Amino acid sequence: MDRNDILASLVSMSNELGDPRNDFVILGEGNTSARLGEDTFAVKASGTSLCSIHAGQFVEVSFEGVLALLDREDAGDEDVKTALEAARVDSASPLRPSVETVLHASLLSLPGVNYVGHTHPTAVNSILCSVNWREAVSGRMFPDEIVSCGIAPVVVEYVDPGLPLARELHRRVRDFMDGVGTPPRVVLMQNHGMIALGSSPTDVISITAMSVKAARVLAGTQAFGGPHFLSEQNVLRIHSRPDELYRMKQIRGQA
Ligand SMILES: [Zn+2]
Repeated sequence: MDRNDILASLVSMSNELGDPRNDFVILGEGNTSARLGEDTFAVKASGTSLCSIHAGQFVEVSFEGVLALLDREDAGDEDVKTALEAARVDSASPLRPSVETVLHASLLSLPGVNYVGHTHPTAVNSILCSVNWREAVSGRMFPDEIVSCGIAPVVVEYVDPGLPLARELHRRVRDFMDGVGTPPRVVLMQNHGMIALGSSPTDVISITAMSVKAARVLAGTQAFGGPHFLSEQNVLRIHSRPDELYRMKQIRGQA
C-alpha cells in the first residue's frame, strides 16, 4: 500500500471506531495512528473527532523525533509540545499531534504492529473504573476472546496521560514481550481506556469489538457468581491450535 492508501484505511478505521453506534468513544475521545513507512507515521491531530476525521486531520511525524522523548526524563508539558511540533514532517502545518503521540510511536515500533486504535468504550471502562478492576481482567473467558485479543492484555495502573503514560506503557509492553515473545494485542489502562494493536485496520476494529463483547460478558457473569476463567492450559491450547492460528490470520487480514 502506498502512503495515500494507508491514510485512507486509517481514516475508515477511525470513522468506524468513532461511530456513535459502537459506543467506543464520544466527542474528541480516543486517537489512532498508522505506520506510513520506515521513518514516519500518521497520528490523529489534537482537537479532532474520530467519527468525522478525514485525511487532512492526521499529522505525519518522524519516529526518531517522537521516540527521543522517551529518554528525556526531565521533559515537561511545554518541552513535549515543542518536540512533537518539531517532529512533524510538514513543519508549516497548523495541526498539533495528539497528546498521546509518543505512546503511538512506541507501539508502532513493535514487530507486526502497523495500526493502533485507542478508545474509551463504555463497557470496557465500566470495568477499568471499578474497585475490583484488576481481578476482573485477570483471565480469559472464551476462545474467540483469545483469537482476537491474545492470551492476555498488558495492564497499566492509572498514569498521567501524555509522556508519563507513554513511558510506563513502553516499559510494560517490553516486559510483556520478554515473557510472551510477541507484542500484546490489547493494553488496558486503569481509569482511562483501552488500546488495540493491529497488523491491519480490520484487526484493530476486531480487537476493540471483541474487548467490548468480553467486557459485556464479564458484567453478565456477575449475576451468576462471577466469571469462570479458562485455565492457562486452555488458553495456551487455543493460542497454538493450527485451526485457530488460521482463523487468527484471516481475522487480521494476513491470510
Ligand atoms: Zn484516552
